[in-house]
Amino acid sequence: MTDMAAPEFSIVLPAHNEAGAIAPMTTALKSVMATLGSFEIIFVDDGSSDGTLAALRAASTDPAIRYVSFTRNFGHQEALRAGLHYAQGRAVVLMDADFEHPPELIPDLVDLWRDGAKIVVTQRMDDDTQVSAMKRLTSKLYYRLLDTIGDVHIPPGSADFMLLDRRVVDLITGLEGHDMFLRGLVRWLGFPLTTVPFTRGKRLDGASKFTMRRMVELAITGIAAHSVRPLRIAVWLALAFASVGLLLVLYSIVSFFFVPRTVVGWSSIMAAIAILGAAQLLVLGIIGEYVGRILRETRKRPNYIVAETEADMKASQGGRSYGFRP
Ligand code: UDP
Ligand code: MG
Repeated sequence: MTDMAAPEFSIVLPAHNEAGAIAPMTTALKSVMATLGSFEIIFVDDGSSDGTLAALRAASTDPAIRYVSFTRNFGHQEALRAGLHYAQGRAVVLMDADFEHPPELIPDLVDLWRDGAKIVVTQRMDDDTQVSAMKRLTSKLYYRLLDTIGDVHIPPGSADFMLLDRRVVDLITGLEGHDMFLRGLVRWLGFPLTTVPFTRGKRLDGASKFTMRRMVELAITGIAAHSVRPLRIAVWLALAFASVGLLLVLYSIVSFFFVPRTVVGWSSIMAAIAILGAAQLLVLGIIGEYVGRILRETRKRPNYIVAETEADMKASQGGRSYGFRP
């Protein structure tokens, strides 16, 4: 079915060590999609080390189930990118494989798309008890920062759970570059967004892969992808320290003439050195962050490497006709 004609819908699900979720998710999606139209389900195995790939191979005997398997872990955002690339549907739904993005919400997204929305995004409601207060606070502060310095407004609670029209998918897959931050990118495109609130579902199996480190990395990518203003911190710091320095000069001149006392001020000099040193390192670090990204872009390496897809599996198992694609 999916090989002969493009389906109406593609559901794309990045999966990193989600072996236990593949079969139940497939069942859930198939029952949700049954009345909506023709569809394909595309799992992107992002370098899983558990039985995820085996589960996908087994599931893909069903012609509606496809998969793309990376050679190693390239990250959630790259998995989304690959899914968008492989999806053939006229509308593409992106969602997590772990049931935290409830499949039952898909009909709502589809309704809005049928009413003409090009991009339907979702927003996690705030009374979400599964997220720690700390995570909620940092995410709120982060989006406020991005709002101030970046070129996009991303409301807190925004998830990579969305529906994109074919036109938007083609625009995104046509973009080059490594710093993928999908929830910013879809807003940057400028199409009107339709937002659907949702309550986060319960993770079915396994654990979250987003450690503190990965979250910080994603946060930095988000800033680098949508703002160059941090580079200007150097200018602001320079201005601030120059004015403090000017006051110090005035003070030392005045005290030279009018305050008769021996040399003091060791601690203020140490403080100045320490503060200036820290400020310089900070700015160097920020510059380094951007320079590193420029280097990565100039290498023009692919964003991910595909090891196998459902077409390879079918070709190796049942002769070429199975994997034939027009
Ligand atoms: N994921 C991925 N690659 C990764 C990390 C996560 O494809 O390197 C997938 C994961 O399998 C899940 C989705 O991205 O389907 C969201 O990840 P997770 O549930 O670990 O994050 P959280 O929901 O805790 O933010
Ligand atoms: Mg999750």
